[in-house]
Amino acid sequence: MSQAAIKPASAPSAPQHVDVLIIGAGISGIGGACHLQQQCPEKSFLILENQTGFGGTWRTHKYPGIRSDSDLYTFGYRFKPWTGKPIATADAILEYMEEVIEERGLNDHIRYGHMVKSASWSSDEALWTVKVERQGSDDPLTFTCHFLWMCQGYYKHAKGYTPEWPGVDRFAGPIVHPQNWPEDLDYAGKRVLVIGSGATAATLVPAMAEKCSHITMLQRSPTFFAPGENRNELADMLRELEVPEEWIHEIVRRKILHDMKVVQQRSFEEPEKLRDELIAGARAYLGPDFDVETHFTPKYRPWQQRLAFIPDGDLYKGIASGKASVVTDEIETFTEQGVLLKSGEELAADIIVTATGFDLCVLGDIDFAIDGEALDFSKRYTWRGILYSGVPNMAWVFGYLRTSWTMRADLIGDFVCRLLKHMDVKGVDMVVPTLSAEELAEPARPFIEKDNFNPGYLDRSMHLMPKQGQRTPWVFPQDYYVEKDEIPAADLEDGTLVYGQRKLAQRAS
Ligand SMILES: Cc1cc2nc3c(=O)[nH]c(=O)nc-3n(C[C@H](O)[C@H](O)[C@H](O)COP(=O)(O)OP(=O)(O)OC[C@H]3O[C@@H](n4cnc5c(N)ncnc54)[C@H](O)[C@@H]3O)c2cc1C
Repeated sequence: MSQAAIKPASAPSAPQHVDVLIIGAGISGIGGACHLQQQCPEKSFLILENQTGFGGTWRTHKYPGIRSDSDLYTFGYRFKPWTGKPIATADAILEYMEEVIEERGLNDHIRYGHMVKSASWSSDEALWTVKVERQGSDDPLTFTCHFLWMCQGYYKHAKGYTPEWPGVDRFAGPIVHPQNWPEDLDYAGKRVLVIGSGATAATLVPAMAEKCSHITMLQRSPTFFAPGENRNELADMLRELEVPEEWIHEIVRRKILHDMKVVQQRSFEEPEKLRDELIAGARAYLGPDFDVETHFTPKYRPWQQRLAFIPDGDLYKGIASGKASVVTDEIETFTEQGVLLKSGEELAADIIVTATGFDLCVLGDIDFAIDGEALDFSKRYTWRGILYSGVPNMAWVFGYLRTSWTMRADLIGDFVCRLLKHMDVKGVDMVVPTLSAEELAEPARPFIEKDNFNPGYLDRSMHLMPKQGQRTPWVFPQDYYVEKDEIPAADLEDGTLVYGQRKLAQRAS
């Protein structure tokens, strides 16, 4: 896979200035660059990426079977038709992104191996100064920009989340987190224990089952899964009719979004019925004698966590075949041979995989400062889940957690371009989302409310995230069907966005 080279250590270290600096070359950063290029062609921009290639999530994760858990018609960009199977491997997603990068000539705009360490805003200059560490160089770089487009995702890429269990050091075999998968891990003929039952575990278990002697999925509590064929009937039919791919992409996206809306509505209006249907899906694969009640009957409401699609019911098929099994219990302690459960049962293993999720990361762990003062994001309010109170000229792409992430990345792409054009028309240099005294006096709400969506990584770190207020625009609905109309219509002159001019001449332009 071709990638723009990391700039050599001898590259000049004088500050480089662009209109817009995009942080992260994952699906959001590459998408943002495409929107900017198309809608604001006069703006100069660069993408800074810590890794040695594009892809973000799809480059970081290298565990067996790594694939999307949502369909690529909606996880793919609005502007680039997806032509493969709906649920795609990481490699297929990287190939898709590579095509986008090549078609749009983005390679020259990306700087790989560039880790952003700090970003300081000067109101006098209406300028962000961004300090970067480069791989293979002790010489840090400085970039300046008018607008910072944060596309660094929402979790720490360096290391996944592993709970603290007693006795972990006693276990004799390897303990592996899927986020740091060792390329040479040999699990052929071995007994593997996977701790966790989220989308990652549901991918790993069937992918590893064939090669290992047995694989066990150990969960504290069950998860909802949606089994189904990894094909889209409507797309297949439209292709048979030789409908152009651009049309197929749009039509199939609309159909999937329509169907998902129905599921989302039902999860609020008739959760019990939806829950019964999902559980019946498990029963259909696992047979009447399987204890579905214990292992596949979650306690939460469907859609309070992402509903992972399992292509062709592969997880259930692995369990039904006997190559894999599921245990619902809690860990008392690790032992030399495996884990001892609270029930007294011991699970023996040669390898333990901790599919226990990731750690939320607030704005790429970058040290932010505004006019010399360190910025604490947990004290800020979000403006429609895009901008932040008191933080000038900065947007963060936080995508959807139920619907595909990219649906929101596209909406934010349009919004940022609209805002930049609006500022140009007004002849202003800065925009600062600003709460009124009345709004500040009202009780704050968490960035994402627990009752709406409640996976562990959000629970653990919500106190670090910015807040929501009581009313629009200080809210983040996390609902595509609301925001698809609201974000494009958002009033840029409603008084909550305060515009201004720089006081000093620009350092670089
Ligand atoms: C295993 C897994 C599977 C998932 N599957 C789905 C799915 O099927 N559907 C879905 O909608 N969502 C899914 N998600 C959520 C997923 O993270 C997003 O959908 C999406 O890929 C995020 O894209 P992004 O570009 O915003 O961020 P990321 O993919 O996280 O990319 C961010 C990039 O920014 C870089 N970066 C971060 N900090 C810095 C810094 N300080 N300096 C420089 N660069 C930096 C990172 O190296 C990374 O390359 C999944 C998540 C995981 C972990």
